[in-house]
Amino acid sequence: MTKVLVTGASGFIAKHIVRQLLEEGYQVRGSVRSDKRQSELAALFPDADLEFVKLDLTSDEGWDVALDGVDVLMHTASPFPGGEPDDPMELIGPAVEGTKRALNAAHAAGVRRVILTSSCVAIYKDPAKPPMEQSTEENWTDPDAPGVGAYEASKTLAERAAWELADQHGLRLTTINPGAVYGPAMDPNYGTSLQLVEQILDGEFPAYPNINLPAVDVRDVAHMHVAAIDNDAAVGERFAANSGAIYLLDAAAVLAKAYPDKKLKLRKAPDFMIKVAGRFDKRMAQVVGGLGRNADVDGSKAEKVFDFTYIPTEEALLASAAYVTAN
Ligand code: NDP
Repeated sequence: MTKVLVTGASGFIAKHIVRQLLEEGYQVRGSVRSDKRQSELAALFPDADLEFVKLDLTSDEGWDVALDGVDVLMHTASPFPGGEPDDPMELIGPAVEGTKRALNAAHAAGVRRVILTSSCVAIYKDPAKPPMEQSTEENWTDPDAPGVGAYEASKTLAERAAWELADQHGLRLTTINPGAVYGPAMDPNYGTSLQLVEQILDGEFPAYPNINLPAVDVRDVAHMHVAAIDNDAAVGERFAANSGAIYLLDAAAVLAKAYPDKKLKLRKAPDFMIKVAGRFDKRMAQVVGGLGRNADVDGSKAEKVFDFTYIPTEEALLASAAYVTAN
């Protein structure tokens, strides 16, 4: 029986991965960093063949034991806060060091496949690409370019480190690079992911910055991770997970139509206003980096190689909205 280690098993995406792995008969070992998260997970999968280990991205402790007897490493753990930290190293440090720890331990344990959760943010801020052109998996964000936030840099540098180690150790690596992940949560611990939908529904946007984001349903992201395990064509490849980028105002319009009682105001914020706000507000500074740039990434390679059709972006947004409004 194939045993899979899922790091950061308590995450919004990882819980869907764990569910699909268990449904397909894999033995799953999930890493967590607290007893609280471990009991929440155990409660979600009460009768499952699910083991737990404790791992922290910032510590060497436990990696060899965690990977002992494991066939496949799925490395999803990475810090994903809603805002910009004071020190970018708060995100870059754990993301990069954790990825190195995970891949080095996988190599030492003779793991046969490694699947890494990267991101479209490691792709679409490529200064070598005309800004309004759609990106492909060939593009790479420049972590040092202006307008690239700490999270975007952390994902780019972590993925770069993974490819270097895979090359060095001959690891059979695949990266899954999701856009903004929507769809249903499995429990109230859904991290940063559904916050945008919540904020729109709560009317927190007086006006919407003119930026688009690639988007994908969490169920498709989980499917891609699981389908990569036994797919030789996926080895050595990056896969953007994107059912179609959507402008923030268009996402708000989808939600406004489905929830007319919320009386959401649909206004576009002028770019100059966002640029002024970006001088004072760090989170806005990252949004400024998205103005005048197309963040869309071609996600069609994944559909071909993994033989599925994406859940449409509108449906993914509405599934998130259904969850957050019911809970
Ligand atoms: P979550 O915040 O829900 O999950 C993050 C996971 O990483 C949690 O299990 C968290 O543990 C764990 N983690 C964070 N820091 C550490 C650390 N220092 N040591 C050990 N574990 C740690 O986010 P998502 O599920 O959304 O994200 C999962 C992955 O997907 C990440 O790699 C993220 O970058 C990537 N991604 C997410 C997108 C999205 O829109 N959601 C888009 C593209 C990529 P704990 O529960 O204890 O906090």
